[in-house]
Amino acid sequence: MTEEERKEKIKKLKHAVTLNYSDYVKMGWFWGWDAVNICNTDENVIKELPEELIKSKLFIACPQCSCAPEKLRWINFSTSGKSWENLAGSAGYLSICENCKRQVGYLETMYN
Ligand SMILES: [Zn+2]
Repeated sequence: MTEEERKEKIKKLKHAVTLNYSDYVKMGWFWGWDAVNICNTDENVIKELPEELIKSKLFIACPQCSCAPEKLRWINFSTSGKSWENLAGSAGYLSICENCKRQVGYLETMYN
């Protein structure tokens, strides 16, 4: 890991510690849009929402337009291959409100 990558990782960890779930919901994003847009393809759309997701606390309506959680666009999100190599990877279910261009919920299913 280079010095720059190490600093980036520390920054990310601090970010994770200082923000809680509702902060992300208020901000309207969990992950940078560059990373999200890479994953936001039709192949990554979750057609049948898993039970663990429906029962989770992040299965919420869009806070801006009140679009119901089952009507949001749910995708399989993963951070970049490089982030996994640097032991900073995260993957899970991410909901996007297409009306408001917000990320509404993120349930992490894998990380390293
Ligand atoms: Zn919305």
